[in-house]
Amino acid sequence: MKVVFSRYYSARTPGHVFRADKFEAALKLLLTEGVVSKKDVVEPAAPSKSDLLLVHSPGWVRKNLEFGFTPEDSDRAGIRITRALVRAHLMNAGGTILAARLALENGVGINCGGGSHHAFRDHGEGFCLVNDIAVAIKKLLKERLIKKAMVIDLDAHQGNGTAAIFRGDRRVFTFSMHGAEIYPEKKEKSSLDIGLRPGVGDKSYLSAQKRELPRALGRFGPDFAVYVAGADVYRGDLLGGFRLTMGGIRERDAFVFRECRRRGLPVALVLSGGYAGRFSDTVRIHSNTIKAALGIK
Ligand SMILES: [Zn+2]
Repeated sequence: MKVVFSRYYSARTPGHVFRADKFEAALKLLLTEGVVSKKDVVEPAAPSKSDLLLVHSPGWVRKNLEFGFTPEDSDRAGIRITRALVRAHLMNAGGTILAARLALENGVGINCGGGSHHAFRDHGEGFCLVNDIAVAIKKLLKERLIKKAMVIDLDAHQGNGTAAIFRGDRRVFTFSMHGAEIYPEKKEKSSLDIGLRPGVGDKSYLSAQKRELPRALGRFGPDFAVYVAGADVYRGDLLGGFRLTMGGIRERDAFVFRECRRRGLPVALVLSGGYAGRFSDTVRIHSNTIKAALGIK
């Protein structure tokens, strides 16, 4: 199975809690362990302007493509927007498009990056500039490759950008399970929001997931899914506020892939957030998620 990755994902973000090089580190770990071989790694192309315009406003697309940001744009995104960061986000969107196509071919598609679920139609937020999830879904819908998509967002933060983008679009179900009391302070309305208290551990988290996800999948009946597998539900995370163990997160991931597989539902994986106090923990969690996608225990 292929793993989508571009070296452009690794923009430098010195001193920032978001380290874009975590994706490259996760891939390196998988290569070192022999789980993935170099020939399985595929490079995405950058998305076209018309791909971006499926989701984003002309003004925001222009800012990204012509690097026309104001200092306020960086403030709102919560990160200093550099050319390298923009390129990373654009390539992440290309990567999620490619992973989505691979999912339709093989059942599972893996982007070793992506998951910018806080990017809105006309602005960036929460370290996100381009909503790769929405771009990939809108592109497949436009090409009539899919009819109904579900976003399974299990990052610790609500997928507010994705929820706002697809609000009122009956073709897309946004499922978001997240911390009720962390960013974003003002939540958007997803198709289904499951807000959990701070400090939730494996047991409560997994029981909520196992109760709600199959129900939503059964009711909506998607023919395509994107799994937003944030690593920030981990107990060692600086931003997430949950207390899941690595074992609990592996169970979370395995459950998602098992539910998709048994329904014959193609699923594209994006890695999204992860801000563990120990960088190597985030890297380990992301690599474990990719192993789950590959069906490795
Ligand atoms: Zn997050």
